[in-house]
Amino acid sequence: MDDEKVIDFTKLKYVLYVRKSSVDGERQIRSIPDQIAECQQLARRLGLNIVEVLEESQSAKKPNIRPVFRQMLTNIKKGIYDAILAWNPDRLARNMLEGGEIINMIDDEQLVDLKFVTHYFTKDANGKMLLGMAFVLSKQYSDDLSQKVGRGVGRRFTTEGKTPVPKYGYINEEGLYRPDNENGCRNFDLMCEAWQMRKTQTSIETISSYLNEQGLYRLVKSTGKRLFMDTQKLSDIFHDSFYYGVLNQAKQQVDLRELYDFEPAVSEDDWNHIQSLSYRRIKPSKPHTLAFYPLRLMVLCSFCGMSMRVGASTSRMKKKILYYRCDNKNCLRKKKSIRSKVIFVDFLYKFVADGLNFTEAEYNKYYEGISTITDQKRQKLRMELNSKRGVLKVVRREIDELTYKIVDYKHEDKIWISNRKRLDGFEDQEKELAQDVAKLEKLLADPERDKLSLEQFLNLSKNAVKIAKSPIPEVKDAFCRKIFLNLTVDEEKVSSYQLKPPFDVLLKHRQQLLGRDLRKS
Ligand SMILES: [Zn+2]
Repeated sequence: MDDEKVIDFTKLKYVLYVRKSSVDGERQIRSIPDQIAECQQLARRLGLNIVEVLEESQSAKKPNIRPVFRQMLTNIKKGIYDAILAWNPDRLARNMLEGGEIINMIDDEQLVDLKFVTHYFTKDANGKMLLGMAFVLSKQYSDDLSQKVGRGVGRRFTTEGKTPVPKYGYINEEGLYRPDNENGCRNFDLMCEAWQMRKTQTSIETISSYLNEQGLYRLVKSTGKRLFMDTQKLSDIFHDSFYYGVLNQAKQQVDLRELYDFEPAVSEDDWNHIQSLSYRRIKPSKPHTLAFYPLRLMVLCSFCGMSMRVGASTSRMKKKILYYRCDNKNCLRKKKSIRSKVIFVDFLYKFVADGLNFTEAEYNKYYEGISTITDQKRQKLRMELNSKRGVLKVVRREIDELTYKIVDYKHEDKIWISNRKRLDGFEDQEKELAQDVAKLEKLLADPERDKLSLEQFLNLSKNAVKIAKSPIPEVKDAFCRKIFLNLTVDEEKVSSYQLKPPFDVLLKHRQQLLGRDLRKS
């Protein structure tokens, strides 16, 4: 360490090297623009001079050839660059062989420095050892990946007996999703149209009937049966990142765009934008008076499938009346809002009227059940996480644009004031979304987390009525969130609902009973 010369990093010529991995396990997929942005941020902070940005586009057919990487090493030896900046060591070297090559170049002083966003490198012995470890880890990781990719795209979809996850507009050819436009059908084109319609906020109902009119179908290979579209399926589809190229599986996400010439039905930007449409309308009207409203994002409009905005108005008796309103301007709903009484008194209290009455035996079943449902649930969570990350990106872009817009105006200027208000709103959204994203990331990292203890479980069962009827909105809200995924309301009543696992199984019996009761009343 003593013999180390003091280096002035600001005088070095850094080359920024980016490469995207095609598959990601628990880690985030960092897109190339994201990698570049984060590296540039680091460079600004440290005062580094980036002389060139090199981008490796990876070919799935020849995964071992990285022409850009080879050229970069050659140019370093020639003295064109002094140092490398990358997002993570695993972008740079995918195995110990490549890692060793880089470490040798450092020892030979051909390479003066390495900087990473996610790894702190020092040129001393410890630093080199840590870097070596990071490379070894990335080797394990990429071995693991190639296995996963093989499994994901090849065997798992075809020969393992499992049918591929079917997707509207696509056919699965030997594990690869291809546009379904053959034999005179337009299934793929129709799905592309569907996404564009959604982008202009056309209601799910309208799009669904349009697709059916146009003859969209999905063929079940084994039976030759044709399945048609409905609003429930379509509303799930509009949250599925598969349609722009990221396939969600239980254990991982696979970026199909990096694996083969996958043809997306919607661009990533449009997809992000569409995700933001269903979140944006939920904002409380005054961003800084954050009253607590129960069931935010949980109550869906039966006409368009969008979540309804929660709000409160004051009656003549000075009583606060809570309501849920559909703000989608393309929705065909006539009575836009519905009182919360319909949800709580008419539906929920009836639902829990006899208590949930679970037993210890049922708890054990629940506990067993939860590990088998985890995969499916993780897939759902990951989908939600993707969707929220997309929205967050859109919101952050809007914040950037607005900030830029008002920078030249005085604070008392009307333009400044009105934009400042919008900016406040977006900043609240950003905060909320960032929290949600963090929560989801945590949840995905630790699936055991939301298991209830036996005590909690039996308490929930015993006290269901009391909890549901609690005068504290936060308590009511938490209770509903434990049991329901969502509630769908038409103009008069709760018309359907989805239960969260394991209650979807445990309450099946009750559900049927209740269905009868509701119809009677
Ligand atoms: Zn609606």
